[in-house]
Amino acid sequence: MASEFDLIARYFTRAAPNGLLGVGDDCALFPVPPGEQVATSTDLLLEGRHFFPDVDPKALGHKALAVNLSDLAAMGARPIGCVLGLALPHLHEPWLAAFAEGFHALAAAHGCPLIGGDTTRSAHDLAISVTVFGAVPAGQALRRDGAQAGDDIWVSGELGAADVAYRLLDGQYPSDAALLAATRGALEWPEPQVALGLALRGIANAAIDLSDGLLQDLGHILAASRAGACLRFADLPMAPALSGLDAAPLQRALLGGGDVYQLCFTAPASRREALLAAAASAGSRVTRVGEILPQPGMTVVDAHGQPLADLPAGFDHFPAD
Ligand code: ADP
Ligand code: MG
Repeated sequence: MASEFDLIARYFTRAAPNGLLGVGDDCALFPVPPGEQVATSTDLLLEGRHFFPDVDPKALGHKALAVNLSDLAAMGARPIGCVLGLALPHLHEPWLAAFAEGFHALAAAHGCPLIGGDTTRSAHDLAISVTVFGAVPAGQALRRDGAQAGDDIWVSGELGAADVAYRLLDGQYPSDAALLAATRGALEWPEPQVALGLALRGIANAAIDLSDGLLQDLGHILAASRAGACLRFADLPMAPALSGLDAAPLQRALLGGGDVYQLCFTAPASRREALLAAAASAGSRVTRVGEILPQPGMTVVDAHGQPLADLPAGFDHFPAD
């Protein structure tokens, strides 16, 4: 049986880039360029709660880092490196090898090397904790509290596929192999919008990543910015695979569906052209879906401008105070 140290050496030790001290000492070290702030975020993923026990370990390694990179993206921060905490109920090397492969591939793609962590046996379920570090010029981070009345509300990418895949896998929807095949990638292989986050600096007034669903996450921007919003349902960028869904599951997927890891952000209407150019340069599709209003509260209107009734659960939590 391989020891903890063998496993760390085999699967989690990679040469750190020049100027960084990576795995092997008591702490990792990285420089912070003058005039920049460190942006850091942690996400904890628990078996049974955040992923299915039988999920492809390579996809899990990817997603464990992707959800953290998405937080850097939402702040407009450039990745520096990450650390990984693993509580493992058993040591199954093929599983670890696949997990590490998915993790390191995304780390390499975003210049976010694994520079430390902790590994322990656990008597309980698998738990994965990733912390990312990034850098952003002081004062330029995209925060939740900067939305201004009159701003456009934008979202990147497409919405809803991850929610449908989750409900199919969870048995909430009758099994549908074609629909699962068309949506599963969104749930298991989210692509963090790091380049878009960087491109939005100096253009967007506020940003958040869509981890808990559009209504909930936009609600956080509204609460922090003490503002309200009107969303146009017909303008939401629906994942094409959802075109056959009934109205209720479609609303649930687009407005309430989590695990999206696209960005929702606000920007002055005067910056539309600059914003579209920035998104194009980042290779991201962005869609204008609504407007920030001065008074608190949120409405979602249909194609005729009528407010939608029966919004997905979670809507009541939106801060109207
Ligand atoms: P310590 O006793 O200081 O906690 P460890 O023996 O736990 O050190 O870890 C040895 C080295 O391996 C440290 O540099 C630590 O950051 C790194 N490490 C441990 N587990 C992981 C992991 N899962 N991923 C990356 N690095 C790890
Ligand atoms: Mg340790």
